[in-house]
Amino acid sequence: MKKTNRREFVQTAVKATVFTTIGAPAILSAACSAKPSEDTTDEESAIAALAFAQVKLPYDYAALEPNIDATTMDIHYNKHHTAYIKNVNDAIAEENITFATEAEFFANVSTLSAKARNNGGGAFNHNFFWQVMKPGSEAPSGKLADAINGSFDSFEKFKEQFTHAAMTRFGSGWAWLVNDNGTLKIGSTPNQDNPLMDISDFKGTPLLALDVWEHAYYLKYQNKRNEYIANWWNVVNWSEVASRLV
Ligand code: MN
Repeated sequence: MKKTNRREFVQTAVKATVFTTIGAPAILSAACSAKPSEDTTDEESAIAALAFAQVKLPYDYAALEPNIDATTMDIHYNKHHTAYIKNVNDAIAEENITFATEAEFFANVSTLSAKARNNGGGAFNHNFFWQVMKPGSEAPSGKLADAINGSFDSFEKFKEQFTHAAMTRFGSGWAWLVNDNGTLKIGSTPNQDNPLMDISDFKGTPLLALDVWEHAYYLKYQNKRNEYIANWWNVVNWSEVASRLV
């Protein structure tokens, strides 16, 4: 590739990062950290541009009390999530992964190592999870309420179905609400897989996610995943969910 073409490629890749990343503005800002290296003399490293960044927690550790306790939030964010971010970026460097965007990374995750897949999923899923929660919660409204009612008959039936998906995910994983070409769907993924991954049986654009790993609830709820889920509805950020329904 000629130098000029390579520069154009880098510029295009950076634009693609901004415009094709799945998610709302906060995810976009995280993806925007996937910028070329400051060391512009090394154009090869500029092409290997993707770096996952941990979003700032949009509230204090105690803000979701009593539904999610401060100690769990602190450990979950600063230990578990921070480790996923570090480890996926290590994998990207070790394996010379050159995908330009998170969306491209997940769409090709079947070609990557278990380290890249598991930690990349953990990095993205938690960035997503923090943002779809907030202190206090209102019911969905407007276009989102219409879409939920259209796909599940009522908000109560939607909650039942989502809770069922979260309860029946055996072991560690996530429950999701996704937009699949205009239809809302509920499902779950194992471990740190997500619906953007090419290897996932359950696919779509994530709108809402619930972490059902024991590390998300065990300190407060021990084995009572059902109580964790029931209380989690009190902290869902429905306006954030609605912003992802485009
Ligand atoms: Mn987690």
